[in-house]
Amino acid sequence: MTDEPVLPPLREVIAQHGLAARKSLGQNFLLDINLTRRIARSSGTLAGVTVVEIGPGPGGLTRALLLEGAGKVIAVEKDERCIAALEELGSVFPGQLEIISGDATKLDLSTRIEGPARIVANLPYNVSTVLLVGWLGAESWPPWWDSLTLMFQREVAERIVAAPHSKVYGRLSILSQWRSEPRILFDVDRRAFTPPPKITSSVVHIVPQPTPAGIRFKDLERVTAAAFGQRRKMLRSSLKSLTPEPEALLSAAGIDPTSRAEDVPVEGFLALTRAFSEASSEPGPPDRDRGSR
Ligand code: SAM
Repeated sequence: MTDEPVLPPLREVIAQHGLAARKSLGQNFLLDINLTRRIARSSGTLAGVTVVEIGPGPGGLTRALLLEGAGKVIAVEKDERCIAALEELGSVFPGQLEIISGDATKLDLSTRIEGPARIVANLPYNVSTVLLVGWLGAESWPPWWDSLTLMFQREVAERIVAAPHSKVYGRLSILSQWRSEPRILFDVDRRAFTPPPKITSSVVHIVPQPTPAGIRFKDLERVTAAAFGQRRKMLRSSLKSLTPEPEALLSAAGIDPTSRAEDVPVEGFLALTRAFSEASSEPGPPDRDRGSR
């Protein structure tokens, strides 16, 4: 085994580059290398793998990914103050760290990645669900990423993996489960972060599955938004924001019109989305968009 490079303590990197955490950027840094290496490893064996990291900040998780053997890390950071610190890290791992200075919510990463890649990140909480829904709704499927290993606030993680009949089962659960398999790997105590956030976080692992036939993601988003927009109402009432004839739609999907959104499983929402797409005039997605693995 080759010796690992010696890196300066992260606290020094943060002090040297004046990287006081900014709340507006969702900055809660992880400084414990044992923890960041555990997160890196939880995405699977990293040897030779290309990893996309959103929000590397001062580079705690980034250095863990590289030390765990990632072939390449492509790191997207919005805070320009962090770039010099990341470049210093890159000089220790020549050719292995590509830094993209920019806003991840505005970049189409699929056009920049060659070959298989994983996304591993301690996400900024203020844009975490926007980024997740963007990745899960990718037009081309299987997507450009092989898996997502992401840190969320615990309550968001619970919504992602929730089953029907639970109070936290909702739109995010369906968008996360309709063609992916999410699971919570482990929790991370709030005190592991600098500064500590108010609540516990969780690492979630998501693996893409085959796309169910005939589903237009935009329609699934509309149907779930209408159904859970008024989650306590019966669907025959809450879906009025979607269509003037909710009962016809529910009947076509084989769903009891008196049921509530939180009692309908993912398959029910898929049937409802198909019925909605059929009832609206536009044709469904062409076959080539229905990649499977
Ligand atoms: N990866 C570091 C760690 O684990 O210690 C920092 C994680 S911190 C929770 C989130 C990081 O995302 C910050 O560095 C922040 O500047 C960055 N960030 C916030 N919004 C962003 C965006 N829209 N695009 C890219 N990076 C963003």
